[in-house]
Amino acid sequence: MSVAIYPGSFDPLTNGHFDIVKRFAGHFEKLYLVVANSSKKSYLFSHDERVALAKDVLSSVDGVEVVGWQGLTIDCARKYKATAILRGVRAISDFDYEFSIAHTHTQLAPEIETFLVLASPQHSFVASNLVKEVARNGGDVSSFVPKPILTALNQKFS
Ligand code: ADP
Repeated sequence: MSVAIYPGSFDPLTNGHFDIVKRFAGHFEKLYLVVANSSKKSYLFSHDERVALAKDVLSSVDGVEVVGWQGLTIDCARKYKATAILRGVRAISDFDYEFSIAHTHTQLAPEIETFLVLASPQHSFVASNLVKEVARNGGDVSSFVPKPILTALNQKFS
């Protein structure tokens, strides 16, 4: 069975993340969207909120399951018997970071392959950090995020 994980902060999940899930879910028998939590990062939405929001958005996509995770990504992949890790690349600026993570993962877990997948052009500038900044200052982010995320952002900043 081909299983993949798509790990990230998803703080919050954007249309760019959603697009990756919709495009790649069909290429695997099972795709886990892994909402990671790191004590070194500060988030707008709590871990539980990010998991719940991702579940809300992705409930309609066949073959996808949302799970929370704290710890090494490769340990998560092993737990769910995934042989692939998906990561998105929006522009060359993402590449350095993704390149070092991918090679670190390969060194630690050679049996797991990392797939760097390209953002669709219409989402290639969409970033959770920018979405939060615009929403925090009262801007309209409805074209960047799915409806449940928009509602959650409006509640956060109301
Ligand atoms: P992280 O904090 O782990 O980078 P993110 O939630 O920001 O988590 O992103 C998760 C993954 O999705 C990363 O590989 C990131 O490059 C990718 N990604 C982020 N935004 C987009 C987008 N608009 N289109 C495609 N991939 C994206």
